[in-house]
Amino acid sequence: MSQQKLMFRRFTYGFLAVCLAMHLCTVPAAAQKQAVDEEYTAKIKEFTTDPHFLTKYVDYLPASETVPTPLDVLGHIAGARDILTYTKDINRYLRALAEASPRVELFPAGTTEEGRERIYVVIADEDIIKNLDKYKAINAKLADPRKISDQEAEELIKDAKAMYWATGAMHSGETGSPEMLMELAYRLAVDEGEFIRTIRDNAIVLITPVLEVDGREKMVDLAMAPRKDPDGNYARRPLYWGKYVAHDNNRDNLGLALDLSRHLINNFLEWHPQVLHDLHESASHLYVSTGTGPYNAWLDPIVVDEWHMIAYQEVNEMTRMGVPGVWTHAFYDGWAPNYGFYAANGHNAIGRFYETQGAGDGSTRVISTRGDRAWYRPNPPLKRTLWSLRNNVNLQGSGLQIAIHYVAANREKFMENFYLKSKRSVAKAHNEGPAAYVFPGDDPRPGQVKRLLTLLQRQGIEVHRADAAIEVGKDTFPKGSYVVRMDQPYSRMADMMLDRQYFNTGDSRPYDDVGWTMGPLYNVKSVRITDTKILDAKMTLQKEIVVLGGVKTLDGSGGVKAYLINHNADNPLATFCFKNPKLKMFAAEKAFEVEGTAFNAGTFVVKTEDNSGDLKGLLDKAGDTFGFTAFAVSELPDVPMHAVAVPRVAVMHTWMSTQNEGWVRIALDELEIPYDYISVHEPRNNSRLRDKYDVILFGPSTGNALSIVQGLTGDKPLPWKKTELTPNCGIQDATDDMRGGLELEGVLHLKNFIEDGGLLITLTSSSSLPIHFGLAQGMSIRQTEELWARGGVF
Ligand SMILES: [Zn+2]
Repeated sequence: MSQQKLMFRRFTYGFLAVCLAMHLCTVPAAAQKQAVDEEYTAKIKEFTTDPHFLTKYVDYLPASETVPTPLDVLGHIAGARDILTYTKDINRYLRALAEASPRVELFPAGTTEEGRERIYVVIADEDIIKNLDKYKAINAKLADPRKISDQEAEELIKDAKAMYWATGAMHSGETGSPEMLMELAYRLAVDEGEFIRTIRDNAIVLITPVLEVDGREKMVDLAMAPRKDPDGNYARRPLYWGKYVAHDNNRDNLGLALDLSRHLINNFLEWHPQVLHDLHESASHLYVSTGTGPYNAWLDPIVVDEWHMIAYQEVNEMTRMGVPGVWTHAFYDGWAPNYGFYAANGHNAIGRFYETQGAGDGSTRVISTRGDRAWYRPNPPLKRTLWSLRNNVNLQGSGLQIAIHYVAANREKFMENFYLKSKRSVAKAHNEGPAAYVFPGDDPRPGQVKRLLTLLQRQGIEVHRADAAIEVGKDTFPKGSYVVRMDQPYSRMADMMLDRQYFNTGDSRPYDDVGWTMGPLYNVKSVRITDTKILDAKMTLQKEIVVLGGVKTLDGSGGVKAYLINHNADNPLATFCFKNPKLKMFAAEKAFEVEGTAFNAGTFVVKTEDNSGDLKGLLDKAGDTFGFTAFAVSELPDVPMHAVAVPRVAVMHTWMSTQNEGWVRIALDELEIPYDYISVHEPRNNSRLRDKYDVILFGPSTGNALSIVQGLTGDKPLPWKKTELTPNCGIQDATDDMRGGLELEGVLHLKNFIEDGGLLITLTSSSSLPIHFGLAQGMSIRQTEELWARGGVF
């Protein structure tokens, strides 16, 4: 032990020494060993507002001679009054923990969209930590029953450890979980009690302390700045969380567009944990997810039962200890597969979440709660109570220990279920169907096919390619068609994504706006095949989806006059245009044919006389990159055509909410379409928009046109910018004052922009602006509050 570590010791060994000396002690063996960190424990009690919210799992902190506590490293305990911890400091603590404890291993997990570090830690008994690769390999084998026999599985299960993965702070306004998770990591590493040892011996606990790292840092900025500088002006809440989206970052499991979603799926596929537990804070006092149903019809029914089985442990045990407001059932349904924790549910594991009573900026204040006594809420929350961040840490920390312990203690059962679910997924092609989905090789949009199939591969789904034409029933699919087989471990996720989403019209209204039939949404053909004969067709597993193109000669009667690129509405064509802004191109205004090959209206005509340099070489390379064929012709097609150029694009946001327009920016960034990112203040202040832009794209904002015009109000400036105390704010866009909206001047300037030939595109709710202010005449908006399945695909 280093001298430094010795200095950390603040615990008392007194009672232990006495017990050992007397040899008569009647305290159970486990308790004898457990020394307590008195200073930390005193602070836990100080910051807990009411003994109702202190349980035996968190009312002391175990002491260690060698391993530092959060207080040692950071100077404050987890859940200290008025203190939120930056992710960078949480990571610093976890690094110190991992260095000091042989039971903790820290792993880097790349960087976020804004370039911040992402890490996670793995905790187990030190012998297990030394052999993590072995346990990873066991889980991987159980996850793919095609490769092992039942007997091998039985042997593996005896040896396996259940993996339980807890993730925090996906939602940046929900601030308690990272504080709790760093303390939990410490508890799991050092506590010598029977309860924690059962966890350490039977389970491997993974902890990602912060999912939305970028948002957490902004949140901590704004929570702590006014405490350090009470006279300063600060926004009350972060306008941005991540680079792109805010609260709906947990609705990205189908698209996997965000870095945090990719962390969830990549880590899942690396470790195959049996449980993924995501921590949220929006209910009184501790909600444990099971949902009300309707449950997702593609899931193995075992998992629905497992949700309940574990949830009742927390409700029961916490209720036994007298903690009020611990409940399950009546929050969300359990239907849509778009949530982050579906990285587990969609892959034969258990995805679950908490909604606990949050404490936002970390202050202690009186709260009112909701929720009466019910079968699923046997002890309702206190109607009015003083609430603290530490209370939140206590409840989350207690519940999570109960759940992890339950899974650890019933390790074999959960491992067996995991194997069984994986096995039944492989058997799905024959037992439940369908047999496969086929993506015909002659799809007119190969770029979109590649996008969708690559997304499936990111989800861990295997994609095959037909070695020869496939005949099934009346259908023939050409050689090169793609096949997603339903006799693979992740057939359920594939079926969920590709099948027409099913919702029983007898069920109550769904919790979310949802639409996820991915084939049509990607504008590609996907054919559901029920005949299992397709599984015998010759096909090859694809490592990656490659779309080739290039130059082909269509009519070789003379020199090349032009190259024709058929317009098939494939998204990569847009990328090609924006990547080659200097290329002179025309667009055909009508469909036409050359030598029997059909070209759509919109086909690009690239004339050799207009473009100097190695045009053939450029198009050959671009065709490979963007998946198109450029057909060389010796005659120009006899159709009217006009010159095309890449427009100057602006994406406009309000200062009230950037949540939904962020998805538009993701799409543009993915397609590498450049744009200026402007706020509604730009049209307000600039009467000559047309000088700068051809297109202004106003993403979804609010359906209240007047609020777009008025914007934020208040008697003090509301800056959104980088300052000494808010170093994480003002990244995407910055201003000294967010107040004020588009204003009537801005409406007029947009009207002039349109009249000058500019194109204003509004999406969903933002369309209220041009309609209500007369920029798009002859239209009106009819509210559809009673529409039963909002956000569906029709
Ligand atoms: Zn949340």
